[in-house]
Amino acid sequence: MHDGWISLTELNSYRVEAYAACCLFPATVEELREAMRPAAGQAVHMLGHGCNVILAGKYYDARHRFVCTRRLEPGIVVDGREVRAGAGARLRDVCRAAARAGLSGLERLWDIPGSVGGAAFMNAGAYGASFYDGVVSVAVYEPAADRLGTLSRDDCRPTYRTTAFQGTDVVIVSVRLRLAPGDRAAILAEMGRIGKLRRSRLPYDKPSAGSVFRRPEGAPPVGVIMEEAGLKGFRIGGAQISPRHGGIIVNAGGATGQDILAVVEVMKQAARERYGVELILEQVET
Ligand SMILES: Cc1cc2nc3c(=O)[nH]c(=O)nc-3n(C[C@H](O)[C@H](O)[C@H](O)COP(=O)(O)OP(=O)(O)OC[C@H]3O[C@@H](n4cnc5c(N)ncnc54)[C@H](O)[C@@H]3O)c2cc1C
Repeated sequence: MHDGWISLTELNSYRVEAYAACCLFPATVEELREAMRPAAGQAVHMLGHGCNVILAGKYYDARHRFVCTRRLEPGIVVDGREVRAGAGARLRDVCRAAARAGLSGLERLWDIPGSVGGAAFMNAGAYGASFYDGVVSVAVYEPAADRLGTLSRDDCRPTYRTTAFQGTDVVIVSVRLRLAPGDRAAILAEMGRIGKLRRSRLPYDKPSAGSVFRRPEGAPPVGVIMEEAGLKGFRIGGAQISPRHGGIIVNAGGATGQDILAVVEVMKQAARERYGVELILEQVET
């Protein structure tokens, strides 16, 4: 059944087994333009490193086209206080390159999985820091106009886990950051501290996509709500609310996208019943 299908399993951090009839990996802007060419009746799904997506289906036939930017312009250049990174670069590698150059500002983003494109789309963040804190501009490709452009940080309208890119088909090509000079040893030490903190709190031992929901307003963190509701460890099929962190769903073995979405509904219901809040999905269902 899988002949001619491209496996998406290694392309999503939940490791949900899924297949696509069409999945493209543009490495250059020219290849990206080709990959984004509109085709009647075909829906485009963008993927970076797949660390924040829920693949709802198992087979995505020819009506779907995945465009994966993990190989797009993956270079990282440090020039004085500036760091330029392509969409396909790993955020971890950008943090490491900045630290080695004695540039401060990305320490608290250390160890967030995924690409620069994904971080710029999601405004990834942790421990009070977010990706756009250091962003000067973002280079983009607009498929509808077949146009390359550059947006200032303000044009990207970053707020908590939100940017102007969400809900559009604009592709992030690269990002320019300006960071502060700092002490290399202190920067590396802070990254070490953050890394340890993350490893002690997050279930890195099982496939997941990090926090499922945005932090709710007027209610405790999602992990606390799930703990209060006795839902830590709750499981449907292969999808389980992590016994370690109640705000994260893990693939405990053979989870499908539908298993994950069923657990999402149970979590939403628990938050509604206990606190009257409507949880908003941070992860992107596709
Ligand atoms: C163990 C674990 C811990 C995590 N911890 C955190 C955390 O602390 N903080 C946090 O913010 N996130 C966290 N995440 C979630 C994830 O790492 C981030 O959201 C990350 O920025 C996603 O990047 P990605 O390349 O994997 O994007 P993907 O998951 O591939 O894509 C996410 C969205 O971005 C879009 N996209 C990706 N690339 C592009 C592009 N080039 N142009 C246009 N759109 C694009 C996709 O279409 C999709 O809608 C965690 C995930 C895991 C697995």
